[in-house]
Order: sequence, then structure tokens, then C-alpha cells
Amino acid sequence: MQAMVLTQIGGPLQWTELPDRGPGPGEIRVRVAACGVCRTDLHVLDGDLPDIALPVIPGHEVVGRIDALGAGVEGLRLGERVGLPWLGHTCGHCAYCLGHQENLCDRPLFTGYTRDGGYATATIADARFAFPLGEEGSDQALAPLLCAGLIGWRALVLAGAGPHLGLYGFGAAAHILAQVAAWQGRTVYAFTRPGDAASQDFARRLGAAWAGGSDEAPPRPLDAAIIFAAVGALVPDALRAVRKGGRVVCAGIHMSDIPSFPYRLLWQERQLVSVANLTRQDGIDFLSLAPRVGIRTHTTPYALQQANEALADLRAGRFDGAAVLVP
Ligand SMILES: [Zn+2]
Ligand SMILES: [Zn+2]
Repeated sequence: MQAMVLTQIGGPLQWTELPDRGPGPGEIRVRVAACGVCRTDLHVLDGDLPDIALPVIPGHEVVGRIDALGAGVEGLRLGERVGLPWLGHTCGHCAYCLGHQENLCDRPLFTGYTRDGGYATATIADARFAFPLGEEGSDQALAPLLCAGLIGWRALVLAGAGPHLGLYGFGAAAHILAQVAAWQGRTVYAFTRPGDAASQDFARRLGAAWAGGSDEAPPRPLDAAIIFAAVGALVPDALRAVRKGGRVVCAGIHMSDIPSFPYRLLWQERQLVSVANLTRQDGIDFLSLAPRVGIRTHTTPYALQQANEALADLRAGRFDGAAVLVP
């Protein structure tokens, strides 16, 4: 197999030939057909996340087909198309696992961070954390659903059911969630970097009723806002934009420091929460909903060997939607 391997913090990823490995008990081997590029991959590369063990193969929006089954794997078959998400393994017996919060497991493994991921021609996964994807939709179109869609969905549920929803940072996750929220009958307000007219047009094309800079006030108070951008300064902006009792959800794994802000922005029962990871139930819920919504992901393909360019383009905001590596 070949992979783009992170050998030192800061990168670049190295194109590497590796021996093919068979799946252990309870594992599957997946031939990768497409792997989305997520902002979290930049945080892995930049050393923003703790306890990384190098070398590691990034990538946690994996779509591929099972080409080997380990002992004891049930419910999956050879040749089946599956998706591998960020949550790659949980311990199954900590208080969080037992309390329906496996996203907060004390001893988890995360795909493309603490276990090898999908920037490769093949990868090994814990079979219990693979989602069957069926045959509808192309590999490339489905890949961004595995994190941007799925963790975005968890954030959307956490935001509550209010009809007026703000999305801060209009990248891979927001471009999917805007479609879901519009399908639910909500009104979407998209906030981008000030002056980023192209992203604002993109947001309007995907159903946002209003799009503007993050320094602008929306035309009316919001019921909730989700912050996808890794910019802590957006937290007081979003609190300012939500109504009394409104909620602000921080959906990223890493954020720059949040500047201090006056207590009155939080006062009147506004809530500020974060979303961490996903549960398998989130995946089941979202992946069954996605075909009904008719989500159209906007993707830019890159060859696997171009992973460093894809990451650089993501960092610079050079494409709309999501980048997808195709081995
Ligand atoms: Zn656990
Ligand atoms: Zn991700």
C-alpha cells in the first residue's frame, strides 16, 4: 500500500510505500476510494492536538470497500462500501461509553490522529465503527459527509430546533449543514470572513437567506449559532447575534483563544457549548437522513500524492466546499 505519512509536526506529509497489513480480530481492511480533507487534519499537522504519536497517516473522511475481514467481524461483507469516521474506537466500559456519550470516551482512538487513517490506498479499521454506505452516490461526494456532515449534524442537533440559525465559517461543514437546515425549514444566516464575497455567494446558492461578514449583525436576532471556524474571536460575535435564551455551539476541535467579553453577552440565559467528536448513533441518524435531504456536496478532487497541496489550499481558503483525495 501507499500512504501520505506525517512523520514530523509541521509536515509535509511523505509519500511512502508500506507493507500491506491484514486486519486483526474485529477489524476490517478497506481499499480507500476517496478521503475527504478536514480542517482537523491541519490541526494534526500543526501539532495543535495533544498526545499525537508519529508517524501517523491522517484522514478521517474515508470511503472505500472492504477487501479483508478479521476474525469475528459480523454484519459486514467483503466488497461492501463503508465509511470510516473520526471516532475509530472506544473502550466500551468507561462511564461515558456506558452513559450513551461514547463521543467523550476516556480511552478512544481517532482515525487519522491516534490511529492510521485514509490518506492511503488502504487502511485498517475497527469494524464496529464503520458505517455501511450502500451504493447511492459517488465515493467522492460521500466522503465529506463522514466528518463535516456528521459532526456538523451533531452540532445542529445541539443547537436546538429554533428556526433562525447562524453559521460562522462557511466551509465544508457549513455547506452541508446549510442544506440540511434549509430542508428542515429553517432560515440560515451565513457568516464568512469580512469581504469574502465569493463565499457569501456560495452560501446563498446553497440556501442561506442572508450572508455577510462575521463583523456584521444579522438582520434579526438568531435562535442559535454554530461556529465552524477555528477563530475564538467569533465567540463574542456569535453571542452578540443570538437572542435571549439562545445558544452558541463551537463545533471545531481546536480554536484560537477566546477574547474576554462583557458578561452581558452571556446574560439572559444565553448558552455557550462545544461539540466533541461523534457517537455511532449520530452517524446512523445522519447517514439515513442525508439521502432524504438530497445533500449535494461541492468537492474538489486531488490525487493522493497531492495531499500537501490540498491541505495548503484548505488553509488558504482556495476552494469552496471540501477537498477530497482520490488514490
Ligand atoms: Zn469509553
Ligand atoms: Zn474532520
